[in-house]
Amino acid sequence: MLSKIFRAVILGAPASGKGTISKRIVDKFGFVHISPGDILRLNELNGTELGKKAKTYIDQGILVPDDLVIKLVSGRINEVGNKSYMLDGFPRTVVQARKLNTIDNIDAVLNLDVPHEVIIDRVRGRWIHLPSGRVYNIGFNEPKVPGKDDLTGEKLVQRDDDQPEVVAKRLQVYEEMMKPVLEFYKQHNLVTNFKGNTTAEIWPQVEKFLQDKTKTAVAHCA
Ligand code: AMP
Repeated sequence: MLSKIFRAVILGAPASGKGTISKRIVDKFGFVHISPGDILRLNELNGTELGKKAKTYIDQGILVPDDLVIKLVSGRINEVGNKSYMLDGFPRTVVQARKLNTIDNIDAVLNLDVPHEVIIDRVRGRWIHLPSGRVYNIGFNEPKVPGKDDLTGEKLVQRDDDQPEVVAKRLQVYEEMMKPVLEFYKQHNLVTNFKGNTTAEIWPQVEKFLQDKTKTAVAHCA
């Protein structure tokens, strides 16, 4: 069997496990991970013109203008060349989705579908050691001493935006923003939903899907 080039978009609400699934796709299938959020933060850190422009938007939690992000992503897609890639955090608007269509042929849109109440519950149990960024989860990754960081013994806190009401609002905002994008891709028959309550449930489905999709028979290529 040979692998063929595959271009995917991954969609998933905040705290849906998209970060973990994306990392596994990179590790297992060698996809290049393209995340405009990461690229923008790096530019901000390096003090580039792009970073300075983007900072004002990122700090307010609003979208960076389409033309800026499109330029960034198309540049990155060009650099990636003949490799499989996965777009994470792009497109976020129909304008971006349409533009992407003119840049490259997307093979699939992977939509992680985790019930909102499950996400709210999961985030409710998330505790953080702020100085190091270490994350603990009540129920499956608990600190040795309740409320204390394992390495330093310092106190753990919950992020303000992890409060249930705030998470519910973030999920609602996400749904409203992504609905037209999802519709756009449904019309193009590109969407596959991966349903589950946990990453453990969702990952095997994603893995099987990509295994099937990225393989072509040797006979075909002989
Ligand atoms: P993320 O890490 O994907 O949550 O992105 C962080 C921030 O970068 C967002 O809040 C936006 O300000 C900006 N950003 C990332 N991706 C996009 C996009 N596709 N369109 C517009 N702004 C974006």
